[in-house]
Amino acid sequence: MQAQQQQAKNNAVPAGSRSPGAVSIKSPAQFQKSEELPKTESLFPARNENEVSFFQPPLQRKTGSGNSVPVFQFVRAANAGAWNAALALRTLQATNAQQQINTLVTNGLQLATTRAARGELANKQTLFRNTCESIRDGRMTLNVLTQSLSCHLTPHNYTEWAIGSLFYNRVPESARNGNLFFDSQVIYPNNGVNQAAAAGLDENHHNNFIRRGSEPAHTDGKQIRLFMPDGATWLNNNDILKTIIIHEGQHAIDRHDAALPGNFADERMADVGPNQTYGDVANRYKTEFRAYWLGEKPGGNFGSSTKRAKNNRRPETIDRDDAMGVSFISSATSFQNERQENIFWHLVDTSYKWVETNYAESEKFRTMVDAYSEPTGGNLLNSTRIDHYAQQLNFNKGSIVRMAAAPKAGQRAAFLNQLKGLRGTFLPLAIALDDNDRAFLSSPELSQPFWRFFDAVFPDLGDEHLNTYHQKTKTALKRNMNID
Ligand SMILES: [Zn+2]
Repeated sequence: MQAQQQQAKNNAVPAGSRSPGAVSIKSPAQFQKSEELPKTESLFPARNENEVSFFQPPLQRKTGSGNSVPVFQFVRAANAGAWNAALALRTLQATNAQQQINTLVTNGLQLATTRAARGELANKQTLFRNTCESIRDGRMTLNVLTQSLSCHLTPHNYTEWAIGSLFYNRVPESARNGNLFFDSQVIYPNNGVNQAAAAGLDENHHNNFIRRGSEPAHTDGKQIRLFMPDGATWLNNNDILKTIIIHEGQHAIDRHDAALPGNFADERMADVGPNQTYGDVANRYKTEFRAYWLGEKPGGNFGSSTKRAKNNRRPETIDRDDAMGVSFISSATSFQNERQENIFWHLVDTSYKWVETNYAESEKFRTMVDAYSEPTGGNLLNSTRIDHYAQQLNFNKGSIVRMAAAPKAGQRAAFLNQLKGLRGTFLPLAIALDDNDRAFLSSPELSQPFWRFFDAVFPDLGDEHLNTYHQKTKTALKRNMNID
């Protein structure tokens, strides 16, 4: 982070060098980095001790490095011009962030892919390119959000808050926490923001989104949201941004939600917590494990999968059966390798406390976690080609079984015709796979969830045609060949 801080320092605007009222809108391409707010280690610089008073009229504040930069405190009632300028700059910062990520993804599409070394899934460059292709093809959506202007109108104490309310629309609760973001409706490759959402005075606005906690990103179904709050450490670090996008891309493409059709989910396990708040913890754990395994630790690494684990730390949780709440349940770990172990503890030590609770309390969960020493998944490459194939499998699932099982002669003929038709669907998709896709699908351990799903689409019903088609289709996925 040090180089980044130095960069921010160099870029900071000297005191008094520009008047906030004179802000003009430039296109993102014209936007200078020097006009951005400084990067600090704090997620929410609006709350640090360097902040000026809520009422201080000059739109300047001191930063830790001694430079002054524009901030936008309580300006609307005092000065409509300043408000508009602040809103314009916020809009500009948002479109600039969108443009930054759009460019990262568009450039990612041009990256060279290399065939993975033996025993490896794919290198980071290949994984990022694959993820960008999946975003381009709409297999997941990428939404870049920045903080609304209202996040910078946070009063410091009750007096400020109360007096401010007399003059000014209430700043929404989420904005006071720095967690009101916009624009939630604009996805790659689009650019642009809604002005009301940029102001952020109504947290229920359709184009606003309230972030939970301080997460840099999350995935909701196939929707990836990337949060770019002022001052966050990852904003201009392309390596970390790629890590985040690969990570979230895996959540979106691994179809881990056992409740949805066409999923690659393994056996479900209910959270041991009081209200089963975390739902199916087995697939939830596995999707995080996979995403960290692929994307790596932001700004670091999780170590080697060939080094032995230490197993020298015990997960523990409060014993809920103890009325005094003073005793703990704990359990020794049996991790197999260093990488597995480090990912587990990274989850526990960040925001996944349920991992520790379930490990300590549930023998079933513990056994699953200990055995999950390397990732398995339906699409460990974030490959748009594998996802396209899986989508077609899901689309045809059921109809193949129904037709094959139909006893009547007329339907039998229709079934054979249907198998012929499937050739036209699946063969081009198999041919489109690249070397890494085939290497992954040729590894029965790594791609086990894919094959379980695949075999369910072509069940053995004692039908010779169906079984032959099943086997040949399978072969075509592992090596490029014609099938008949
Ligand atoms: Zn995750």
